[in-house]
Amino acid sequence: VKQAGGGAYRLFDAGMAAALIRRRVLEADLRDALMHNAFDVHYQPIAEIESRRIVAMEALLRWTHPTRGSISPAEFIPIAEASGLIIPIGEMALSRACLEAMHWPPATRLSVNLSPAQFKSETLVQSVVRALEASGLPASRLELEITESVLLVESRDNLAILHQLRALGVHISLDDFGTGNSSLFYLRAFPFDKIKIDRSFVQELPTNLQCVAIVRAVTGIGQCLNVATVAEGVETEEQLAHLRKEGCTQMQGYLFAKPLPAEAARKLFGAWQEEEVA
Ligand code: C2E
Ligand code: CA
Ligand code: CA
Ligand code: CA
Repeated sequence: VKQAGGGAYRLFDAGMAAALIRRRVLEADLRDALMHNAFDVHYQPIAEIESRRIVAMEALLRWTHPTRGSISPAEFIPIAEASGLIIPIGEMALSRACLEAMHWPPATRLSVNLSPAQFKSETLVQSVVRALEASGLPASRLELEITESVLLVESRDNLAILHQLRALGVHISLDDFGTGNSSLFYLRAFPFDKIKIDRSFVQELPTNLQCVAIVRAVTGIGQCLNVATVAEGVETEEQLAHLRKEGCTQMQGYLFAKPLPAEAARKLFGAWQEEEVA
């Protein structure tokens, strides 16, 4: 039994011990997976609501554990962040995704998630430059998705890094908008190119009045700032109709397409042939 604050007692029970052990084991296995190139990158399209044209593809990491099977990024990304492993894992994902994006129509952008921990690396800007150079992908085709936490605490440098990335010609998206503590503050702190409305607000459209109000406010901000707004996690035609009516510009979600392995994602472009460009 461990004593916690306020005289409360917390049981350090078998369940917690098991969770801790799983974390330790997964951390070791992540190192292994990195060495053996055991990660995969899937791609989920982001489409314009009006035309249904794919404007970007978001790269999403996948990990199939040798004995435990598929492990959700929601579980392994936090472990990778806490251990610093997200830096090499993130670099690997970025460079692989840049190479893959060269197989898509030239107007399609690649969107890559950056974790706050990657901003602690001295070499973030350098590794972005390297990934672009190695693949030949123009900087203007790369979008980096960050969450509000990147601009939180001890982050004076992070703002400078964002400006350096922007100076390369890379676009910066504000991910999971609305889930942090002071989202509006961050919109003032940096001129984002895109705002992604978190799935939690989209899910309950159009019945939940709070969600309706928040989505209306965010798309309004987007229109005012002339910044694209993307609704995450769109699953139903009803949600899509509501978002269109509110003037949201882009959608991402199972309704349009799930994240797909590289080969399957390429097929979404249908008639487009890379040979035509080559
Ligand atoms: P995220 O950046 O918010 O990514 C969107 C998540 O929503 C993805 O989960 C995607 O599969 C899921 N999703 C998309 N459409 C729908 C839908 O219609 N319904 C539902 N229920 N879910 C939908 P995923 O792939 O499990 O990734 C979870 C999180 O892990 C991501 O959230 C992101 O924060 C993180 N992540 C994934 N790949 C990377 C990466 O390469 N680097 C970093 N730093 N984080 C990553
Ligand atoms: Ca994202
Ligand atoms: Ca998101
Ligand atoms: Ca999210």
